[in-house]
Amino acid sequence: MLELCQTDPEVFRALRAEIKRQTDQLEMIASENFVSEAVIQAEGSVFMNKYAEGYPEHRYYGGCENMDTVEQLAIDRLNMLFGSEYANVQPHSGSQANMAVYFAALNPGDTILAMSLAHGGHLSHGASVSFSGRLFNVVNYGVNRDTETIDFDQVARLARECRPRLIVAGASAYPRTIEFDMFRQIADEVGAYLLVDMAHIAGLVAAGIHPSPVPFAEFVTSTTHKTLRGPRGGFILAKEQFGRLINSQIFPGIQGGPLMHVIAAKAVAFQEALGDEYKTYTQQIVANARKLAEVLKDRGFRLVSGGTDNHLVLVDLSTRGLTGAEAEQRLELAGITVNKNAIPFDKQPPKVTSGIRIGTPAVTTRGLGVADMEEIANYIADLLATDVPDAIVRDVRKKVMDICKRYPLYEKRLKRYNEAIEQGCEA
Ligand code: PLP
Repeated sequence: MLELCQTDPEVFRALRAEIKRQTDQLEMIASENFVSEAVIQAEGSVFMNKYAEGYPEHRYYGGCENMDTVEQLAIDRLNMLFGSEYANVQPHSGSQANMAVYFAALNPGDTILAMSLAHGGHLSHGASVSFSGRLFNVVNYGVNRDTETIDFDQVARLARECRPRLIVAGASAYPRTIEFDMFRQIADEVGAYLLVDMAHIAGLVAAGIHPSPVPFAEFVTSTTHKTLRGPRGGFILAKEQFGRLINSQIFPGIQGGPLMHVIAAKAVAFQEALGDEYKTYTQQIVANARKLAEVLKDRGFRLVSGGTDNHLVLVDLSTRGLTGAEAEQRLELAGITVNKNAIPFDKQPPKVTSGIRIGTPAVTTRGLGVADMEEIANYIADLLATDVPDAIVRDVRKKVMDICKRYPLYEKRLKRYNEAIEQGCEA
Protein backbone atom coordinates (compact mmCIF):
# COMPACT_ATOMS: atom_id res chain seq x y z
CA MET A 1 0.00 0.00 0.00
CA LEU A 2 2.90 2.25 0.82
CA GLU A 3 4.07 1.88 -2.77
CA LEU A 4 0.79 3.18 -4.18
CA CYS A 5 0.81 6.03 -1.74
CA GLN A 6 4.34 7.00 -2.72
CA THR A 7 3.89 6.55 -6.46
CA ASP A 8 0.50 8.11 -6.81
CA PRO A 9 -0.83 9.95 -3.77
CA GLU A 10 -3.87 11.20 -5.70
CA VAL A 11 -5.13 7.70 -6.49
CA PHE A 12 -4.22 6.60 -2.98
CA ARG A 13 -6.28 9.41 -1.45
CA ALA A 14 -9.29 8.52 -3.60
CA LEU A 15 -8.91 4.86 -2.62
CA ARG A 16 -8.75 5.67 1.06
CA ALA A 17 -11.75 7.97 0.76
CA GLU A 18 -13.67 5.19 -0.99
CA ILE A 19 -12.94 2.63 1.70
CA LYS A 20 -14.17 5.14 4.28
CA ARG A 21 -17.30 5.79 2.23
CA GLN A 22 -18.00 2.06 1.97
CA THR A 23 -17.41 1.46 5.68
CA ASP A 24 -19.22 4.55 7.01
CA GLN A 25 -22.44 4.18 5.00
CA LEU A 26 -25.13 1.55 4.75
CA GLU A 27 -24.82 0.15 1.25
CA MET A 28 -28.32 -0.80 0.15
CA ILE A 29 -27.97 -0.74 -3.62
CA ALA A 30 -29.45 -4.11 -4.54
CA SER A 31 -26.76 -4.93 -7.12
CA GLU A 32 -23.76 -4.30 -4.88
CA ASN A 33 -21.88 -6.32 -2.30
CA PHE A 34 -18.57 -6.48 -0.39
CA VAL A 35 -16.09 -9.14 -1.47
CA SER A 36 -13.79 -10.93 0.98
CA GLU A 37 -10.13 -10.09 1.49
CA ALA A 38 -9.33 -13.39 -0.26
CA VAL A 39 -11.19 -12.26 -3.38
CA ILE A 40 -9.40 -8.89 -3.31
CA GLN A 41 -6.03 -10.64 -2.96
CA ALA A 42 -6.69 -12.89 -5.94
CA GLU A 43 -7.76 -9.98 -8.11
CA GLY A 44 -4.98 -7.63 -7.00
CA SER A 45 -2.34 -10.11 -8.08
CA VAL A 46 0.25 -10.81 -10.78
CA PHE A 47 -2.34 -12.86 -12.65
CA MET A 48 -3.14 -9.51 -14.25
CA ASN A 49 0.17 -9.55 -16.11
CA LYS A 50 -0.58 -12.53 -18.27
CA TYR A 51 -2.07 -12.92 -21.72
CA ALA A 52 -3.97 -16.20 -21.97
CA GLU A 53 -6.11 -15.99 -25.12
CA GLY A 54 -7.93 -19.26 -25.68
CA TYR A 55 -9.11 -21.75 -23.09
CA PRO A 56 -7.41 -24.15 -20.63
CA GLU A 57 -4.95 -26.41 -22.49
CA HIS A 58 -5.70 -24.56 -25.75
CA ARG A 59 -3.94 -21.19 -25.46
CA TYR A 60 -2.42 -18.88 -28.01
CA TYR A 61 0.43 -17.91 -25.62
CA GLY A 62 3.15 -19.77 -23.78
CA GLY A 63 3.54 -19.81 -20.01
CA CYS A 64 -0.13 -20.42 -19.33
CA GLU A 65 0.09 -23.41 -16.99
CA ASN A 66 -1.01 -21.43 -13.93
CA MET A 67 -3.71 -19.72 -15.96
CA ASP A 68 -5.04 -23.14 -16.90
CA THR A 69 -5.11 -24.20 -13.26
CA VAL A 70 -7.01 -21.17 -12.11
CA GLU A 71 -9.50 -21.01 -14.99
CA GLN A 72 -10.26 -24.74 -14.71
CA LEU A 73 -10.84 -24.32 -10.97
CA ALA A 74 -13.30 -21.50 -11.69
CA ILE A 75 -15.12 -23.57 -14.33
CA ASP A 76 -15.34 -26.72 -12.20
CA ARG A 77 -16.50 -24.85 -9.11
CA LEU A 78 -19.10 -22.95 -11.10
CA ASN A 79 -20.49 -26.15 -12.61
CA MET A 80 -20.62 -27.67 -9.13
CA LEU A 81 -22.39 -24.63 -7.74
CA PHE A 82 -25.16 -24.64 -10.33
CA GLY A 83 -25.20 -28.27 -11.48
CA SER A 84 -24.48 -27.11 -15.02
CA GLU A 85 -22.84 -29.03 -17.88
CA TYR A 86 -20.79 -26.22 -19.36
CA ALA A 87 -19.44 -22.92 -18.04
CA ASN A 88 -17.52 -20.01 -19.50
CA VAL A 89 -15.95 -17.74 -16.88
CA GLN A 90 -14.32 -15.28 -19.28
CA PRO A 91 -17.05 -12.64 -19.87
CA HIS A 92 -15.74 -9.31 -18.61
CA SER A 93 -19.25 -8.31 -17.54
CA GLY A 94 -22.89 -9.37 -17.46
CA SER A 95 -23.59 -7.37 -20.60
CA GLN A 96 -20.82 -9.17 -22.46
CA ALA A 97 -22.12 -12.54 -21.30
CA ASN A 98 -25.48 -11.60 -22.82
CA MET A 99 -23.84 -10.33 -25.99
CA ALA A 100 -22.03 -13.63 -26.51
CA VAL A 101 -25.27 -15.60 -26.11
CA TYR A 102 -27.09 -13.34 -28.58
CA PHE A 103 -24.29 -13.75 -31.08
CA ALA A 104 -24.35 -17.52 -30.58
CA ALA A 105 -28.13 -17.89 -30.89
CA LEU A 106 -29.18 -15.09 -33.24
CA ASN A 107 -28.46 -13.28 -36.45
CA PRO A 108 -28.76 -9.48 -36.62
CA GLY A 109 -32.40 -8.57 -37.12
CA ASP A 110 -33.78 -11.66 -35.38
CA THR A 111 -36.55 -11.17 -32.85
CA ILE A 112 -36.04 -11.41 -29.10
CA LEU A 113 -38.81 -11.23 -26.52
CA ALA A 114 -37.58 -9.72 -23.26
CA MET A 115 -38.78 -7.89 -20.17
CA SER A 116 -39.09 -4.16 -20.68
CA LEU A 117 -36.53 -1.97 -18.94
CA ALA A 118 -39.39 0.11 -17.57
CA HIS A 119 -40.85 -2.94 -15.82
CA GLY A 120 -37.59 -4.17 -14.31
CA GLY A 121 -35.62 -5.65 -17.24
CA HIS A 122 -31.99 -4.79 -18.02
CA LEU A 123 -30.48 -2.50 -20.65
CA SER A 124 -28.73 -5.44 -22.31
CA HIS A 125 -32.10 -7.17 -22.84
CA GLY A 126 -32.88 -5.05 -25.87
CA ALA A 127 -33.13 -1.44 -24.68
CA SER A 128 -32.87 0.94 -27.64
CA VAL A 129 -29.76 2.63 -26.23
CA SER A 130 -27.95 -0.73 -25.89
CA PHE A 131 -26.22 -2.76 -28.62
CA SER A 132 -28.96 -5.33 -28.02
CA GLY A 133 -31.71 -2.93 -29.08
CA ARG A 134 -29.72 -1.74 -32.07
CA LEU A 135 -28.91 -5.15 -33.51
CA PHE A 136 -32.09 -7.12 -32.89
CA ASN A 137 -35.82 -6.71 -33.27
CA VAL A 138 -37.01 -6.43 -29.71
CA VAL A 139 -40.48 -7.12 -28.38
CA ASN A 140 -41.14 -6.40 -24.71
CA TYR A 141 -43.28 -8.07 -22.11
CA GLY A 142 -43.93 -6.61 -18.69
CA VAL A 143 -45.79 -7.07 -15.46
CA ASN A 144 -49.52 -7.26 -14.87
CA ARG A 145 -50.95 -3.90 -13.78
CA ASP A 146 -52.78 -5.39 -10.78
CA THR A 147 -50.36 -7.96 -9.41
CA GLU A 148 -47.16 -6.29 -10.67
CA THR A 149 -45.79 -9.78 -11.31
CA ILE A 150 -44.72 -11.07 -14.74
CA ASP A 151 -47.75 -11.23 -17.02
CA PHE A 152 -47.39 -14.75 -18.43
CA ASP A 153 -50.59 -14.38 -20.50
CA GLN A 154 -48.93 -11.45 -22.22
CA VAL A 155 -45.63 -13.31 -22.63
CA ALA A 156 -47.47 -16.22 -24.30
CA ARG A 157 -49.59 -13.96 -26.51
CA LEU A 158 -46.60 -11.90 -27.67
CA ALA A 159 -44.56 -15.05 -28.27
CA ARG A 160 -47.29 -16.48 -30.51
CA GLU A 161 -47.54 -13.19 -32.39
CA CYS A 162 -43.86 -12.33 -32.89
CA ARG A 163 -42.37 -15.90 -32.97
CA PRO A 164 -39.09 -14.85 -31.28
CA ARG A 165 -35.92 -16.81 -31.85
CA LEU A 166 -34.94 -16.14 -28.23
CA ILE A 167 -36.91 -15.37 -25.08
CA VAL A 168 -35.02 -13.57 -22.32
CA ALA A 169 -36.04 -13.99 -18.68
CA GLY A 170 -34.39 -12.20 -15.80
CA ALA A 171 -34.50 -8.72 -14.34
CA SER A 172 -32.71 -5.95 -12.49
CA ALA A 173 -35.60 -4.71 -10.38
CA TYR A 174 -38.04 -7.53 -9.78
CA PRO A 175 -38.80 -8.47 -6.17
CA ARG A 176 -40.54 -11.78 -6.83
CA THR A 177 -39.62 -15.37 -7.70
CA ILE A 178 -39.31 -15.90 -11.46
CA GLU A 179 -41.05 -19.03 -12.75
CA PHE A 180 -38.56 -20.38 -15.27
CA ASP A 181 -40.73 -23.42 -16.01
CA MET A 182 -43.44 -21.11 -17.37
CA PHE A 183 -40.93 -19.42 -19.68
CA ARG A 184 -39.76 -22.87 -20.85
CA GLN A 185 -43.31 -23.91 -21.74
CA ILE A 186 -43.84 -20.77 -23.80
CA ALA A 187 -40.44 -21.07 -25.49
CA ASP A 188 -41.21 -24.69 -26.42
CA GLU A 189 -44.60 -23.76 -27.82
CA VAL A 190 -43.10 -21.23 -30.25
CA GLY A 191 -39.77 -23.00 -30.87
CA ALA A 192 -37.63 -20.32 -29.21
CA TYR A 193 -34.42 -20.60 -27.24
CA LEU A 194 -34.57 -19.51 -23.60
CA LEU A 195 -31.90 -17.30 -22.05
CA VAL A 196 -32.15 -16.68 -18.32
CA ASP A 197 -30.10 -13.77 -17.04
CA MET A 198 -29.90 -14.52 -13.31
CA ALA A 199 -27.44 -11.72 -12.49
CA HIS A 200 -29.36 -10.39 -9.51
CA ILE A 201 -30.40 -13.67 -7.96
CA ALA A 202 -27.41 -15.90 -8.80
CA GLY A 203 -26.40 -16.16 -5.15
CA LEU A 204 -29.91 -17.16 -4.12
CA VAL A 205 -29.99 -19.76 -6.89
CA ALA A 206 -26.58 -21.12 -5.86
CA ALA A 207 -27.85 -21.61 -2.31
CA GLY A 208 -31.13 -23.19 -3.45
CA ILE A 209 -33.26 -20.31 -2.16
CA HIS A 210 -34.55 -19.34 -5.61
CA PRO A 211 -35.49 -22.01 -8.20
CA SER A 212 -32.65 -22.70 -10.63
CA PRO A 213 -33.00 -21.80 -14.29
CA VAL A 214 -30.34 -24.34 -15.29
CA PRO A 215 -32.73 -27.27 -15.97
CA PHE A 216 -34.98 -25.04 -18.08
CA ALA A 217 -32.81 -22.76 -20.20
CA GLU A 218 -30.42 -23.43 -23.07
CA PHE A 219 -28.39 -20.45 -21.84
CA VAL A 220 -27.94 -18.91 -18.40
CA THR A 221 -25.93 -15.73 -17.91
CA SER A 222 -24.97 -13.85 -14.79
CA THR A 223 -22.78 -11.27 -13.22
CA THR A 224 -20.47 -12.43 -10.44
CA HIS A 225 -20.60 -9.32 -8.25
CA LYS A 226 -24.14 -9.07 -6.94
CA THR A 227 -25.66 -11.64 -4.54
CA LEU A 228 -22.92 -14.04 -5.63
CA ARG A 229 -20.38 -11.75 -3.89
CA GLY A 230 -17.49 -12.11 -6.29
CA PRO A 231 -15.42 -9.64 -8.32
CA ARG A 232 -17.03 -7.54 -11.06
CA GLY A 233 -17.54 -9.82 -14.06
CA GLY A 234 -19.80 -12.28 -15.82
CA PHE A 235 -20.23 -15.93 -16.78
CA ILE A 236 -22.27 -18.14 -19.05
CA LEU A 237 -23.73 -21.58 -18.38
CA ALA A 238 -25.19 -23.64 -21.19
CA LYS A 239 -26.13 -27.07 -22.35
CA GLU A 240 -22.96 -28.92 -23.39
CA GLN A 241 -23.96 -28.92 -27.08
CA PHE A 242 -23.61 -25.10 -27.18
CA GLY A 243 -20.24 -25.02 -25.42
CA ARG A 244 -17.95 -24.70 -28.44
CA LEU A 245 -20.16 -22.06 -30.00
CA ILE A 246 -20.30 -19.95 -26.84
CA ASN A 247 -16.54 -20.28 -26.33
CA SER A 248 -15.90 -18.96 -29.81
CA GLN A 249 -18.36 -16.10 -29.41
CA ILE A 250 -16.56 -14.92 -26.26
CA PHE A 251 -13.07 -15.39 -27.72
CA PRO A 252 -12.35 -14.42 -30.45
CA GLY A 253 -15.95 -13.27 -31.04
CA ILE A 254 -16.22 -10.28 -28.72
CA GLN A 255 -13.24 -10.37 -26.35
CA GLY A 256 -9.49 -10.72 -26.55
CA GLY A 257 -7.35 -11.86 -23.64
CA PRO A 258 -9.29 -12.97 -20.57
CA LEU A 259 -8.82 -10.96 -17.36
CA MET A 260 -7.00 -13.74 -15.54
CA HIS A 261 -6.79 -11.87 -12.23
CA VAL A 262 -10.58 -11.49 -12.30
CA ILE A 263 -11.00 -15.16 -13.19
CA ALA A 264 -8.80 -16.08 -10.20
CA ALA A 265 -11.00 -13.91 -7.98
CA LYS A 266 -14.11 -15.56 -9.47
CA ALA A 267 -12.66 -18.98 -8.58
CA VAL A 268 -12.21 -17.85 -4.96
CA ALA A 269 -15.74 -16.42 -4.77
CA PHE A 270 -17.22 -19.64 -6.20
CA GLN A 271 -15.32 -21.64 -3.58
CA GLU A 272 -16.76 -19.40 -0.88
CA ALA A 273 -20.26 -19.83 -2.33
CA LEU A 274 -19.91 -23.62 -2.13
CA GLY A 275 -19.49 -23.42 1.65
CA ASP A 276 -22.17 -23.78 4.33
CA GLU A 277 -21.65 -20.25 5.63
CA TYR A 278 -22.69 -18.87 2.28
CA LYS A 279 -26.02 -20.66 2.45
CA THR A 280 -26.69 -19.11 5.86
CA TYR A 281 -25.68 -15.75 4.40
CA THR A 282 -28.18 -15.96 1.53
CA GLN A 283 -30.97 -17.05 3.88
CA GLN A 284 -30.22 -13.95 5.93
CA ILE A 285 -30.32 -11.73 2.81
CA VAL A 286 -33.90 -12.84 2.17
CA ALA A 287 -34.96 -12.64 5.84
CA ASN A 288 -33.55 -9.10 5.98
CA ALA A 289 -35.39 -8.04 2.81
CA ARG A 290 -38.65 -9.46 4.21
CA LYS A 291 -38.24 -7.52 7.44
CA LEU A 292 -37.48 -4.35 5.50
CA ALA A 293 -40.64 -4.88 3.43
CA GLU A 294 -42.76 -5.61 6.48
CA VAL A 295 -41.73 -2.48 8.38
CA LEU A 296 -42.01 -0.19 5.36
CA LYS A 297 -45.51 -1.51 4.72
CA ASP A 298 -46.45 -0.99 8.37
CA ARG A 299 -45.21 2.57 8.01
CA GLY A 300 -47.61 3.10 5.10
CA PHE A 301 -45.38 2.64 2.05
CA ARG A 302 -46.67 0.88 -1.04
CA LEU A 303 -44.30 -1.79 -2.31
CA VAL A 304 -44.37 -2.93 -5.91
CA SER A 305 -46.04 -6.37 -5.98
CA GLY A 306 -46.83 -5.94 -2.27
CA GLY A 307 -43.56 -7.32 -0.92
CA THR A 308 -40.53 -9.41 -1.76
CA ASP A 309 -39.38 -13.01 -2.23
CA ASN A 310 -35.75 -12.15 -2.79
CA HIS A 311 -33.05 -9.62 -1.90
CA LEU A 312 -34.78 -6.38 -2.85
CA VAL A 313 -37.82 -4.22 -2.37
CA LEU A 314 -39.14 -1.65 -4.80
CA VAL A 315 -40.87 1.23 -3.04
CA ASP A 316 -43.51 3.32 -4.81
CA LEU A 317 -43.20 6.93 -3.66
CA SER A 318 -45.73 8.37 -6.09
CA THR A 319 -48.38 8.96 -3.44
CA ARG A 320 -45.91 10.52 -1.02
CA GLY A 321 -45.12 13.71 -2.88
CA LEU A 322 -41.53 12.57 -3.37
CA THR A 323 -39.66 11.39 -6.46
CA GLY A 324 -37.15 8.56 -6.55
CA ALA A 325 -34.36 11.06 -7.24
CA GLU A 326 -35.26 13.17 -4.19
CA ALA A 327 -35.53 10.08 -1.98
CA GLU A 328 -32.15 8.76 -3.15
CA GLN A 329 -30.52 12.10 -2.34
CA ARG A 330 -32.10 12.43 1.08
CA LEU A 331 -31.18 8.91 2.13
CA GLU A 332 -27.64 9.48 0.95
CA LEU A 333 -27.35 12.58 3.17
CA ALA A 334 -28.16 10.31 6.09
CA GLY A 335 -25.61 7.70 4.98
CA ILE A 336 -27.99 5.18 3.42
CA THR A 337 -27.13 4.45 -0.21
CA VAL A 338 -29.94 3.25 -2.51
CA ASN A 339 -30.88 4.00 -6.11
CA LYS A 340 -33.84 5.68 -7.68
CA ASN A 341 -35.70 3.20 -9.85
CA ALA A 342 -38.62 3.25 -12.24
CA ILE A 343 -41.67 1.40 -10.98
CA PRO A 344 -43.98 -0.37 -13.45
CA PHE A 345 -46.18 2.15 -15.34
CA ASP A 346 -44.10 5.00 -13.95
CA LYS A 347 -45.20 8.47 -14.99
CA GLN A 348 -41.84 10.06 -14.20
CA PRO A 349 -38.88 10.01 -16.63
CA PRO A 350 -36.03 7.52 -15.94
CA LYS A 351 -33.74 10.17 -14.43
CA VAL A 352 -36.42 11.13 -11.89
CA THR A 353 -38.60 8.02 -11.32
CA SER A 354 -41.31 7.37 -8.74
CA GLY A 355 -39.48 4.64 -6.89
CA ILE A 356 -36.42 3.50 -5.04
CA ARG A 357 -34.87 0.05 -5.07
CA ILE A 358 -33.46 -1.14 -1.74
CA GLY A 359 -31.39 -4.30 -1.41
CA THR A 360 -29.96 -6.28 1.47
CA PRO A 361 -26.96 -8.29 0.07
CA ALA A 362 -24.24 -5.84 1.12
CA VAL A 363 -25.51 -4.99 4.62
CA THR A 364 -26.05 -8.72 5.22
CA THR A 365 -22.39 -9.34 4.34
CA ARG A 366 -21.50 -6.85 7.08
CA GLY A 367 -23.46 -9.01 9.50
CA LEU A 368 -26.66 -7.02 9.92
CA GLY A 369 -29.72 -9.04 10.90
CA VAL A 370 -33.48 -8.55 11.09
CA ALA A 371 -33.39 -6.38 14.24
CA ASP A 372 -31.03 -4.00 12.44
CA MET A 373 -33.29 -4.03 9.40
CA GLU A 374 -36.23 -3.03 11.53
CA GLU A 375 -34.23 -0.10 12.87
CA ILE A 376 -33.03 0.93 9.42
CA ALA A 377 -36.46 0.59 7.81
CA ASN A 378 -37.82 2.96 10.44
CA TYR A 379 -35.06 5.47 9.70
CA ILE A 380 -35.85 5.21 5.99
CA ALA A 381 -39.53 5.81 6.72
CA ASP A 382 -38.68 8.82 8.92
CA LEU A 383 -36.50 10.27 6.17
CA LEU A 384 -39.06 9.78 3.42
CA ALA A 385 -41.78 11.82 5.09
CA THR A 386 -42.92 14.88 3.13
CA ASP A 387 -41.13 17.53 5.17
CA VAL A 388 -38.07 16.40 6.99
CA PRO A 389 -36.13 18.92 9.09
CA ASP A 390 -32.35 18.87 8.63
CA ALA A 391 -32.00 17.93 12.29
CA ILE A 392 -33.69 14.59 11.62
CA VAL A 393 -31.37 13.86 8.71
CA ARG A 394 -28.38 14.69 10.91
CA ASP A 395 -29.71 12.55 13.74
CA VAL A 396 -30.22 9.53 11.45
CA ARG A 397 -26.73 10.06 10.02
CA LYS A 398 -25.33 9.66 13.53
CA LYS A 399 -27.36 6.53 14.16
CA VAL A 400 -26.25 5.06 10.84
CA MET A 401 -22.67 5.73 11.88
CA ASP A 402 -23.30 3.83 15.13
CA ILE A 403 -24.60 0.83 13.16
CA CYS A 404 -21.57 0.97 10.87
CA LYS A 405 -19.27 0.92 13.91
CA ARG A 406 -21.14 -2.08 15.30
CA TYR A 407 -20.47 -3.98 12.05
CA PRO A 408 -16.94 -3.08 10.95
CA LEU A 409 -15.79 -3.75 7.42
CA TYR A 410 -12.32 -3.99 5.88
CA GLU A 411 -10.84 -2.93 9.25
CA LYS A 412 -7.32 -4.23 8.65
CA ARG A 413 -7.26 -2.67 5.20
CA LEU A 414 -8.26 0.74 6.49
CA LYS A 415 -5.68 0.45 9.29
CA ARG A 416 -2.95 -0.23 6.73
CA TYR A 417 -3.97 2.81 4.69
CA ASN A 418 -4.02 5.00 7.79
CA GLU A 419 -0.61 3.74 8.86
CA ALA A 420 0.77 4.57 5.45
CA ILE A 421 -0.34 8.14 5.92
CA GLU A 422 1.05 8.27 9.45
CA GLN A 423 4.37 7.08 8.05
CA GLY A 424 4.35 10.16 5.89
CA CYS A 425 4.05 8.56 2.48
CA GLU A 426 2.15 11.54 1.13
CA ALA A 427 4.92 13.95 2.05
N1 PLP B 1 -28.14 -8.41 -16.33
C1 PLP B 1 -28.82 -7.95 -15.27
C2 PLP B 1 -30.13 -8.59 -14.93
C3 PLP B 1 -28.32 -6.91 -14.49
O1 PLP B 1 -29.02 -6.44 -13.44
C4 PLP B 1 -27.07 -6.35 -14.84
C5 PLP B 1 -26.46 -5.25 -14.07
O2 PLP B 1 -27.03 -4.57 -13.30
C6 PLP B 1 -26.41 -6.83 -15.97
C7 PLP B 1 -26.97 -7.87 -16.69
C8 PLP B 1 -25.16 -6.19 -16.50
O3 PLP B 1 -24.05 -6.43 -15.83
P1 PLP B 1 -22.74 -5.56 -16.09
O4 PLP B 1 -22.95 -4.25 -15.41
O5 PLP B 1 -21.65 -6.39 -15.51
O6 PLP B 1 -22.59 -5.41 -17.59
